[in-house]
Amino acid sequence: MPRLPANFYAGWRRPAEPAPALQEGGLPPERWLQQVWRHQRLRRAELRTLDGRPVRVLHPGFWNREPGPDFRQAVVQIGTEPPRTGDVEIDLAVGGWQGHRHAGNPAYSGVILHVVWDATPASFAPPVMVLRPFLDTPLAELTPWLDGEAESIWPAELSGQCCAPLQALDAETLAELLHQAAEVRLQRKAAELAARARLQGWNGALWEGLFAALGYKHNVWPCRRLAELIAPRAGSENAATFEAQLLGLAGLLPVELPRSTGATHARKLWDIWWRERDSWADLALPLSLWHLAGIRPANHPQRRLALAAQWLADGEFIPRLERWLTQPGAGEKELLNVLLPDAEHPFWSHHWTLRSKPVTQPQPLLGAARATDLAMNVILPWLFARASAGRGSGRNPELLATIRQRHFAWPAGEDNSALKLARQRLFGGSTRRLPRTAAAQQGLLQITRDFCGQTDPLCSGCRFPELVRALPGASGVGSL
Ligand code: SF4
Repeated sequence: MPRLPANFYAGWRRPAEPAPALQEGGLPPERWLQQVWRHQRLRRAELRTLDGRPVRVLHPGFWNREPGPDFRQAVVQIGTEPPRTGDVEIDLAVGGWQGHRHAGNPAYSGVILHVVWDATPASFAPPVMVLRPFLDTPLAELTPWLDGEAESIWPAELSGQCCAPLQALDAETLAELLHQAAEVRLQRKAAELAARARLQGWNGALWEGLFAALGYKHNVWPCRRLAELIAPRAGSENAATFEAQLLGLAGLLPVELPRSTGATHARKLWDIWWRERDSWADLALPLSLWHLAGIRPANHPQRRLALAAQWLADGEFIPRLERWLTQPGAGEKELLNVLLPDAEHPFWSHHWTLRSKPVTQPQPLLGAARATDLAMNVILPWLFARASAGRGSGRNPELLATIRQRHFAWPAGEDNSALKLARQRLFGGSTRRLPRTAAAQQGLLQITRDFCGQTDPLCSGCRFPELVRALPGASGVGSL
């Protein structure tokens, strides 16, 4: 006999307070509208724009949790126009388009449909579709789901056409597939670095790659430009001078510092930059080149460039990277020691930016996640490119074997939105069967680049499912 009351679990999940949208005149939170759109909880056959044209949603797009439109790569057909691939922005009201300054913002130039909860007729750039009249279930009934699990569920119908064949693949074959895709990615990155090395030498190519990686997603280009300007002088100055030059050229030092400013780190850098800035005047980057909005404090370019300054000042930096490769058994921890020899920086361990207040817990200038990123995307490919570069006896097979061993044994790095989307499309969001290595992550990214990147969100004409089905490890009779 059951010891617990019937439906007790459903009772646990009932919201204690009525949701705001259910109160008189209340509006649903925007995140609910995103889930309605993402899961297409709509009477899809009836959808219309505000000006009355039928809307056919061939794909709702991929939910974007970063700055920019709410959904990327949707495929929508409006009226008699051919289907278009583009972004979808969700707002409570039509006025959000102007109110949130999307109009004229290049990040929103790819919006093909503006989806709102409620609207009065108005004329705006993208066609507008109102959600409210088309919900497939009254909002009151949808509320527990919208407020609960909707965000965490991956809509199965958005999975790629390769999802089923990949599920049917045995674990060994799947691991081998990812391994091979990762090998392709390693070689591709190495070839890119070798091409850069032909133009600016091996060290120049490494510096450019390292700086670009420090720029993370949004600040790759200004960081790369700084590498071109400053890296040729590596080893010729101390860290404070390199830091002042990098931040000064970047436009990331305060324009003026009042005389009353005490002996701060900014003052120290400013005093160095003040003496030099005229000689760099033509080369300084505009501040507008930097993407600073919404950036995590740990990724702020001021911190990243402070770290780069330490590397540039260390005349032994590149030789130490080379020694790390040949040191038996060296891995992640030992690389971190090369990249961050001084665990504590007198200023940057205690501040996120030049102007920020001290933090309570000391923060390293580089964490394990970023070290993995640098290893997989720059350092190991660069070492691989160099070891492959010589012809005949110049090629170093032993070193190549060591690099491969490090590359494929490296533990998985930090998750990111590209990996999440790849897992969702290819594996329906499940991670159970994926090897927990950085190389498996690289392999996954390579597959999305090679296949997802060549077609549309509907997987039109993608050969990958068919190729997976033909693998020997696919259930059924497969052959290569
Ligand atoms: S485009 Fe190809 S590889 Fe990408 S999810 Fe669709 S079927 Fe899979």
